[in-house]
Amino acid sequence: MLRLLCFTAHPDDEAGGFGGTLLRYAERGVETHVICLTPGQAATHRGGASSDEELSAVRRREFEAACKLLKVSRGTVLDYPDGKLDRQDFFSVVADLTRRVREVRPQVVMTMGTEGAITAHPDHSMVSIFATMACHWAGRTNRFTEQLQNGFKPHQTQKLYYGTALFTIAERQPVSLAPTTTVLDLEPREIEAKIAAFKCHTSQAPLFSFFEETIRKRGKKEVFHLANCVKPHKAEMETDLFAGVEDRD
Ligand SMILES: [Zn+2]
Repeated sequence: MLRLLCFTAHPDDEAGGFGGTLLRYAERGVETHVICLTPGQAATHRGGASSDEELSAVRRREFEAACKLLKVSRGTVLDYPDGKLDRQDFFSVVADLTRRVREVRPQVVMTMGTEGAITAHPDHSMVSIFATMACHWAGRTNRFTEQLQNGFKPHQTQKLYYGTALFTIAERQPVSLAPTTTVLDLEPREIEAKIAAFKCHTSQAPLFSFFEETIRKRGKKEVFHLANCVKPHKAEMETDLFAGVEDRD
């Protein structure tokens, strides 16, 4: 069974950053997982929610609806604080994500880039760093050994990708994006599904028109940077995240 695991920071990142890719691989029979670190309770757009708790609950439901539309096998929202991932204990967050990698056992992992993606959000940078270390350490017998004593086995991810882009947004903080190694040209219906999945996040409705305009103008591809690969090789352009991946646990 091929498995794809996507780590994100906020509900809506899965649709905005990875929607077309998640749908494509689900439809090819790959088991797809999304783990979102925060319930997005610090969002500027609050959809009428009167407290952080209420907004968290709303955004968890929106995430669930978006995952359903994208045919995600399992979507999980963790409970880390939105806007404060850079102030969490590094060792314990990486332990948590390592355990999840050892549990899901994905051949391919995708997450955001260390720069924080085109929005330069610090939470995006942090999920990248936490997920990267979780992928490296999940495969080792000398990291988080208490998990190995509790029935988990080491798991080496075959390929780790950072979502990247071929454009930046002028009015945002400056970012230096990871170079594109992998291009998925989205089919029209994958683009429509991605926009529809983003619009499942109704609390974020003020962002819809900007998002849709950006996707229709400049976002007809989802592009990635192959950050790590189990097989040493020179970088080459790819069109498939699972190229060269072996169907083994
Ligand atoms: Zn985000």
